[in-house]
Amino acid sequence: CQIIAPAVFLLLGIAGILLVVIPIDDMREPPQFMYGVVLDAGSSHTAMYIYKWPADKQNGTGIVTQHSECHVKGGGVSSYAGERGGAGRSLEPLGNTALNSEKILNEVGSKLHTYPFDFRGATILSGQEEGAYGWVTVNYLLENFIKYGFVGHWLSPGRDTVGALDFGGASTQITFETADVVEDKSNVMELHLYGRDYHLYTQSFLCYGRDQVLRRLLAHLVKTQGAGPHVSHPCYPAGFNVSMKLDMVFDSPCTADQKPTPYSPQDPLTVIGTGHYQHCLGNMSKIFSFDRCSFSKCSFDGVFQPNVTGSFMAFSAFFYTHVFLQRTTGITVTSPTLLEGATHTVCTMSYQEMLEKAPEQKGRLQDYCAASVFIQVLMLQGYGFDELSFPRISFQRKAGDTSIGWALGYMLSLSSLLPGESMGLRKALRP
Ligand code: AMP
Repeated sequence: CQIIAPAVFLLLGIAGILLVVIPIDDMREPPQFMYGVVLDAGSSHTAMYIYKWPADKQNGTGIVTQHSECHVKGGGVSSYAGERGGAGRSLEPLGNTALNSEKILNEVGSKLHTYPFDFRGATILSGQEEGAYGWVTVNYLLENFIKYGFVGHWLSPGRDTVGALDFGGASTQITFETADVVEDKSNVMELHLYGRDYHLYTQSFLCYGRDQVLRRLLAHLVKTQGAGPHVSHPCYPAGFNVSMKLDMVFDSPCTADQKPTPYSPQDPLTVIGTGHYQHCLGNMSKIFSFDRCSFSKCSFDGVFQPNVTGSFMAFSAFFYTHVFLQRTTGITVTSPTLLEGATHTVCTMSYQEMLEKAPEQKGRLQDYCAASVFIQVLMLQGYGFDELSFPRISFQRKAGDTSIGWALGYMLSLSSLLPGESMGLRKALRP
C-alpha cells in the first residue's frame, strides 16, 4: 500500500482504540483530493483503509470512496498484551506503506508518532459506537442521507435507512432506525445528520463475535462433558479431531468463568468432531439466555429490542459465512428455511468435501457449521427475523469498492464530512 497524497488525514480506529489525526502539510496549492486513513486494529486482526474525496466537494453523500485497503498478518493488537513492543511492531507493515491495556495504546501511539502524521489522541470505541458508525457507513454508501441541492439547502432523497448487522471477532452489533419506544435508554442513539434527526436502536453483544462464540461453545462442551482430556464436538465435521491446550479455550475474559476446577492451563484437550446438527444446535442455543426479560420484549440475555423493521445489510463474518454456505451447499440463503437447510447440510458435510469445495478456507473449515448455527440462533431466535423480514437482509462485504464496517462512518463523522453536526455525532455517541 502506497500513500501518495497532497494532504493526508490520519484517523486511526484501533479495534476500539482511536487515534485521530489532522492534516500535516501546509499546502501551497489547493489539493485535488483529500485522503483519510483509518487503522482498524480489531480483536482478530489489523486493517488499514485509505479513503479519498475531491477536495472541493465534501458535503454530499457518496462523495468519499475507498482508495485502497491492506491487512496486517498476525493477530489483533489485543493478542500482543504482555509482549513488549509487539503491538507497535505489528503496525510496521502499515506504516511503511490496539485491548484493554493502556500499554498497548501508548505503544501504538509512539509507533505512529514516528510516521509523518499527526494525531489528536487515542480512545477506545464502545460497542455502541461500533454499531452506529457501521450504520452511518452503510447509509452513506447507499446515499440514503439527505442530499445537498443546487439551491443551497438539504433535500431529502425520501428513502428509508438500512439497518446494520456486524459480526466481528469479539462482538456483534445490531443497529436500525425505529419508530418504536426504546425501553432501555442505553440502546438509544440520536443522530443529527444533514439537518435530519435519526432515532436509532443499537445493541452490541460482547463475547458474541465469531472467535469468542467458538471458544464459548468449546468451554460449554468441556464443562458439560466433564474435564477429561477428550471432548466430543457436534459442530466439527465427523472424524475431524484436533489437539490443543486448555488455555486455548479458557484464556479469554469470555470463558474465564467457565474454567474447570482444578484448572491447569497446559493440560491437553483432544476435540473429536461428530458432525451432529441437532446436538450442535442444542449446545449453541445454551450460550444464549432466552428466559429472562424485564422489558415488554427482548432479543436475548435480557436485552430489550424492538421488532426488526426495514432492510438490513449484514457484513463482516455474516458475509463470509453466507458466501461459504452458498459455495459449499449451493444454497443462497435468503430465508430462515433456506438458512436452516444450508446450515444442516454444512453440519453433516465431511471435512474432505468442504476442502474440495473451498480449499482456500482450510484452517477455518471446521468452524463453519458452528458459525452458521450461531447465525441461525442469533438471527431467528434472537433478533427475531422471520420469513417476511429475513429476505430483506442483504449480505455484503463491500458497496462499490468500499468495505463495509465502522471505519468509514467514523472517519466521516470526525472529519466534517457528515454535514449536520459531525462533531455532534460523536457527542451523541457518548451519553
Ligand atoms: P473481522 O470482520 O475482521 O473482525 O472478522 C470477523 C471474524 O471473521 C473473525 O472471526 C475472523 O477470523 C473471521 N474472518 C476474517 N476474514 C475471513 C474470511 N475471509 N473468511 C472467513 N472468516 C473470516
